[in-house]
Amino acid sequence: MADRLIYVGLDVGGTTMKAAAVGDDGVPLTHPVVADTHPERGQDVGLATMAETIRRAVAAANLSLAEVAAVGVATPGLGDIPAGLIIDPPNLKPWKNVPVRDAIAKALGKPTVYQNDANAAAYGEFWVGCGRDAKSLALFTLGTGVGGGIILDGEIVTGEHSHGGELGHQRIEPPDRGRLCGCGARGCLEAYASATQVVLRAREAMAGWRGTTELKRFYTANDDEFTAKDVFDLARAGDACALKVVDDTAYYLALGACNVTAVVDPEMIVYAGGMVAAGEWFRAKIDAYVRHFGLPYPTKSLKVEFATLGGDAGFIGAAGWARRMTQGK
Ligand SMILES: [Zn+2]
Repeated sequence: MADRLIYVGLDVGGTTMKAAAVGDDGVPLTHPVVADTHPERGQDVGLATMAETIRRAVAAANLSLAEVAAVGVATPGLGDIPAGLIIDPPNLKPWKNVPVRDAIAKALGKPTVYQNDANAAAYGEFWVGCGRDAKSLALFTLGTGVGGGIILDGEIVTGEHSHGGELGHQRIEPPDRGRLCGCGARGCLEAYASATQVVLRAREAMAGWRGTTELKRFYTANDDEFTAKDVFDLARAGDACALKVVDDTAYYLALGACNVTAVVDPEMIVYAGGMVAAGEWFRAKIDAYVRHFGLPYPTKSLKVEFATLGGDAGFIGAAGWARRMTQGK
């Protein structure tokens, strides 16, 4: 083990954080160690939990910190990536201006790199996931919101304000008539294609549906609740109303993919998050719209894929970015 380079990746979310030691080949040495983030307890507690979770991950792999080459930390935006600073992320309230990279480096005495969580997930898929043979990719994470990350020739696109690759906030409708997004603007892709918005659009579709729909029956039978997964399941079972919602989701995602292709022309578009559990049936729908809307030449060989690392992509990518920044590979 001593001649092997080991990295630790930590992926911090609003509810939980997870970390694991990852080998030079991108394979985690153990299942990730998970801890509650408790952002409401403040950033000092948060930083202490982060350092402790990394230590636990090292111990879980039967290693000591001395055997770790570098550490990668990923958190949800807003951050200043070159400065290693968490600025003011909505799901880590009330944290503000947290010098996470330097604090973790000091607590552990290890070279530490910092990234946005979706960028880290994109890098994980690029390094050892579905993009392992690709030179470039753009990743959309479909969850409560729509995150994004772009990798071009092995580099994460961060941009001037660490907002490079914020694919969920590209406009797919003009701001004067688009749906309201979590960022406060209108017409963003996130306001159409996040899991949260799939549920909202399904409720609207159901309310205006002429004729019978299983969606409505399901909704009533489940105390006026359903999830994006329920909408996908009902669509797959043939309900026309649910199918329209899923079809529109594929359409919006394809618009986003075509915009990204026009801007950076990646080799591969990748979707991650809970919705990709819908599988090939849903991927094929997005793919068909991409072929329909896309610029003919680049979309001819553009690959449209679903991510393969699941919830591990963030910490694997954070570890991979630590490797990239310290070893240059
Ligand atoms: Zn937005």
